Amino acid sequence: MTTLPTTITRDQALALDRADPLAPLREQFSLPEGVIYLDGNSLGVLPRTTSARVQAVVTGEWGQGLIRSWNSAGWIDMPQRVGDKIARLVGAGARELVVADSTSVNLFKVLSAALTISQADAPSRRVILSERSNFPTDLYIAEALARERGFELVLAEPDDLPALLGPSTAVLMLTHVNYRTGRMHDMAGLTAAAHAAGALTLWDLAHSAGAVPVDLHAAGADFAVGCGYKYLNGGPGAPAFVWSHPRHASRFWQPLAGWMGHAAPFAFTPGYRPAEGISRFLCGTPAVLSLAALECGVDTVLAAEPLGGMAALRAKSLALTRLFARQVQATCPGLILVSPSDDAARGSQVCLAHAEWGYPVIQALIARGVIGDFRAGDPTHPPAALDILRFGFTPLYVRYIDAWDAAENLRQVLQTGEWQRPEFNRRNAVT
Ligand SMILES: *Cc1c(COP(=O)(O)O)cnc(C)c1O
Repeated sequence: MTTLPTTITRDQALALDRADPLAPLREQFSLPEGVIYLDGNSLGVLPRTTSARVQAVVTGEWGQGLIRSWNSAGWIDMPQRVGDKIARLVGAGARELVVADSTSVNLFKVLSAALTISQADAPSRRVILSERSNFPTDLYIAEALARERGFELVLAEPDDLPALLGPSTAVLMLTHVNYRTGRMHDMAGLTAAAHAAGALTLWDLAHSAGAVPVDLHAAGADFAVGCGYKYLNGGPGAPAFVWSHPRHASRFWQPLAGWMGHAAPFAFTPGYRPAEGISRFLCGTPAVLSLAALECGVDTVLAAEPLGGMAALRAKSLALTRLFARQVQATCPGLILVSPSDDAARGSQVCLAHAEWGYPVIQALIARGVIGDFRAGDPTHPPAALDILRFGFTPLYVRYIDAWDAAENLRQVLQTGEWQRPEFNRRNAVT
């Protein structure tokens, strides 16, 4: 573990907030009193505009407008309209990205399309390559598709990926920022390596969109998916997004060929004719209420554009994670920093571990109003065997003082042995 130098005082943390040009962005959110929220990487905070907007869609557009609102309120274009806004955050062009379904379902669609393209261009390529500690749903979907389509899913440690790219690789499928460790892949470098080996790339941006700068076009990526309810603040179960590079989008049918991806859904013809471009990745009727909430969430991130946009948010995010990691390392002996200490390799979270315990520490912190979460280790996989304490830092609403106070609370929970109380040691269904 690299040792990070120097801690700061509570007053210095307060001074950093006073000098922070992004501080006003926090006013966009309705945060409960007495909570330090470090779980925006799992479920983003409620924007102040969301309740009124959803209420207006329910009572006005639905209640009064009824079915006319598909046209008059623009419901039918919401997947593209909200998609265009998200596109600005991930380096995609207009009309290249749509909002639909869940991340898992979108992954199925683009991975299937990628396998089809690979098969057509190079039938001997039979491997989907991914990271062993990728998010489970991504691996489950890949496993299912590999079985169905006669491919092999090969899993590796991050450092071993470049060497494993080769003449058998069809698709390199990675989550840009690892959910367990916060480690961020070099998207441009790995995409270039994959392309040099003749493979396609699929990036899951669940922990990236709205958290770190992403430039899909500059990286030359092939496909991407991402999540609406994490750093995009779209609300629980918000719809997800899907992007295909325009060079691929119209080449093949995606497998869930529903009517909303048809070139003329309201022609009601029996034969399927896919829409041009990314719109063919839609399947069924858009979730209008959820899309309205998601748009409010995405707008909270776009509100940073006049203040420097994702680059400014990234600078603050790094300052926050650095501050928290340093304080913890200086004051909590025995905790291991699992996230990279190198800024360039760290997403917007700090993950910690202890050789013996984890879950009760998070429970004790939550009881104090410091909300992070817990991810169980995988005993069958030594590099990921440790239980993880996970703290996400959303620079839109997390302050420097929050990072400082969270570290101080963690120190107190550990030093007093508070985490050993029985109520913190009972396991809930959702960790
Ligand atoms: C959060 C997350 C998901 C969530 O998928 P859902 O289909 O929304 O449940 C998928 N993949 C990654 C990498 C995630 O972090």
